[in-house]
Amino acid sequence: MFQRIRETIDKGRKFLVVSHVDPDGDAVGSAFAACFALTGLGKDASVYLQDSVPYRYRFLPRPAAVLHQFPENGYDAVFVVDCGDLHRVGDSYDALKRKGVLINIDHHEANGAFGQINIIDDRASSTAEILYLILKSLEVRFTSDIAVNLYTAVVTDTGSFRYENTTERAFSICEEMVSLGVSPASVAIAVYESHPKERLQLLCLVLATLEMFHEGRIALAHIAGDMFARTHTNAEYAEGFVEYLKEIDSVEVACLLRELGPGRYKASMRSKNSVDVACVARKLGGGGHRKAAGCTLEGDIGTVKTILIEAFSQ
Ligand code: AMP
Ligand code: MN
Ligand code: MN
Repeated sequence: MFQRIRETIDKGRKFLVVSHVDPDGDAVGSAFAACFALTGLGKDASVYLQDSVPYRYRFLPRPAAVLHQFPENGYDAVFVVDCGDLHRVGDSYDALKRKGVLINIDHHEANGAFGQINIIDDRASSTAEILYLILKSLEVRFTSDIAVNLYTAVVTDTGSFRYENTTERAFSICEEMVSLGVSPASVAIAVYESHPKERLQLLCLVLATLEMFHEGRIALAHIAGDMFARTHTNAEYAEGFVEYLKEIDSVEVACLLRELGPGRYKASMRSKNSVDVACVARKLGGGGHRKAAGCTLEGDIGTVKTILIEAFSQ
């Protein structure tokens, strides 16, 4: 298994690990775990993330080299983790193609297989789950740094074992990481109960925008740019807000629009049951999973809301 990855690592000396903009727990945890693993194999490894690590993931042990400036160096190979599309790496995605052999490790359904080596499994709970199998086959020693990063990635991508991607394997990987010393309670407190109070002040403003469509099956709220200024927050503070909308009993699809700049909104969509939000997101130029997807929309808030709600009517 994973013969080509093994050969590429054996032959190489210098590696880069990258993940997506707006990094979530799987992006950060998988990138950090991969970097620690490469270092453990005696290689020179760095992580590049366009955006800074969100405050809730700063408790994670981080490799010595985490870059936010696109590196000038070339590498023997670049591991692209948790990116359904190379664009998701950020502005430098095109330059990345010239940095080294691209190794694409991912669990998105619509992954474009953009790497020279592609390890894609859309049944995996998380990229961390695939990475776990790769690291096992490479006989990497699971240090506590690797364990807590992998554990956090699986826990966050499965919504704390609540989503349908919660499989026996997701549990068994987490069980193994706990046996290696990870404390589930400590991770839960760090990720879910260590917010600045400003997050809840922002949430108040956002929930006040809640609207329901299609007999209550779609819930939509938005974050106007000035709400961040009014609460001294930024987009990081709003991670997971869309999940609150899904708590309403009648809701099948929850949508949250976040203003990126004048006339530009990021849409986050979540499905509770059978609606395929990835399909809707793709129609609007984005992507994601059946139950969690996103895209960017242009127009004023009224226009963008109409575009989104109409995309669900077709
Ligand atoms: P988010 O709503 O940002 O948490 O994203 C939910 C899912 O949709 C993630 O799995 C992302 O990979 C995917 N996604 C979000 N935004 C985009 C986008 N603009 N293009 C492609 N995929 C996206
Ligand atoms: Mn992700
Ligand atoms: Mn993921």
